[in-house]
Amino acid sequence: MPTTKFSLDPSDINNFTYDMSRCIKCKGCYWVEHTYQPGARFATRCPSNVWNDFDAYGAFGKMRIGLALAEGRLEWTPKLLEIIYADPLCGACDVGCKRNLDLEVELSLESLRVKAVKDGAGPMPVHKKIAQNIATKHNVYGAPHGNRKQWATGDLKIEEKADLLYFVGCTASYGNKEIAQSTAKILNATGTPFMLMPEEWCCGNTLQSVGMLDEARALAKRNIEMVKSTGAKRVLLSCAEGYRMWKVEYPKLLNIATADLGFEVVHLVEFADEALQKGSLRPAKPVNKRVTYHDSCSISRLADPWTPYSGERGWMGTVNPRLKRRRGTQGLYAQPRNVINAIPGIDFVEMIRTRENAFCCGAGRGTKEAFPTLASSSAKHRLEEVKEIGAEVLVSACPWCKNNFASAAAGDNVKVMDFSELILASLDA
Ligand code: SF4
Ligand code: SF4
Repeated sequence: MPTTKFSLDPSDINNFTYDMSRCIKCKGCYWVEHTYQPGARFATRCPSNVWNDFDAYGAFGKMRIGLALAEGRLEWTPKLLEIIYADPLCGACDVGCKRNLDLEVELSLESLRVKAVKDGAGPMPVHKKIAQNIATKHNVYGAPHGNRKQWATGDLKIEEKADLLYFVGCTASYGNKEIAQSTAKILNATGTPFMLMPEEWCCGNTLQSVGMLDEARALAKRNIEMVKSTGAKRVLLSCAEGYRMWKVEYPKLLNIATADLGFEVVHLVEFADEALQKGSLRPAKPVNKRVTYHDSCSISRLADPWTPYSGERGWMGTVNPRLKRRRGTQGLYAQPRNVINAIPGIDFVEMIRTRENAFCCGAGRGTKEAFPTLASSSAKHRLEEVKEIGAEVLVSACPWCKNNFASAAAGDNVKVMDFSELILASLDA
């Protein structure tokens, strides 16, 4: 029986033409399984296809488009670029498809963007501006690099050397300083010494997400080397997108396994859960609110560790050696819920779509900058779910989610908070 070689490397769209050609348009990438749903109102999983009803915007449409592009049957047009980039690459379709057909949908969508860049068609103009900001100022906003540590006020205890390195990221460094400060205060309150990167630069999330892999790879190498030079054993993030970059995308870009990074990558929700179990995090002050939690894609279904794979595909799509698929089951689901439930006074209530099935806020991976109406439509749809369950506070663990929900919630009776702020509120006795 003839076999073909393939790998899971998204830098070559030809690795995914098999997957793209086998999509049966069952729409498991659009609907959450009915067994989980109490009704049809909150049963969709695809923000792109909720924003635009045409099939092209769903994963099933993009799989067909990808195949036609790979086979040279389609030319790039402005509309085609919109279809490919109006998409937060949230991974919900990947999880849905793998309950059925095991197609690599997320990697297929990534490979489409890499092809767009290679062909000179992508990314979108605003992404090029962000890439320029990163190249010249080392942050996505084009803000002065010298202002990066302005969030670190004198009341915070930050060491020159420590086993734990807090990688703050562009958004919490420049915009959401409250998240950086709350995270540092939590570390201080638990008696955990931590340092910052000597010269922190952008994690490269936008670059990797829009298909600019060479630029993202250069940042990955630089950032990893700098962590190694500090001797840190753990890198802590309070940003979901940064967590995905360090844990999954850096290894993917460098063709190594997450386990081979040489240090551990943890998000604040994991750290807080560990500290709670050890007794160093003691949330004592009641927060008398009805609270719900939004699973940010990049610490949930997109966070399974990365292991490089190359092998052969044979009869009926069988692969050899055996491929352990990433199904979004190893995300940080229990940790934030353990911590939130430990805060006295909180009435915790789950949304209808949770964990792997959570509906993306719509902001991430270059979407809010290029397609702000998609980002706000997604956030408003999610906020309807928050209101449906009667929650007063919506908590997430990423500055991108917080900002997107906060702007969409203007005029609503829903308070939007970051996980770090909620924990800090329970510590301030
Ligand atoms: S779930 Fe998979 S096979 Fe079904 S339509 Fe979506 S991408 Fe195609
Ligand atoms: S990654 Fe998310 S937004 Fe993009 S096609 Fe899949 S489900 Fe839709």
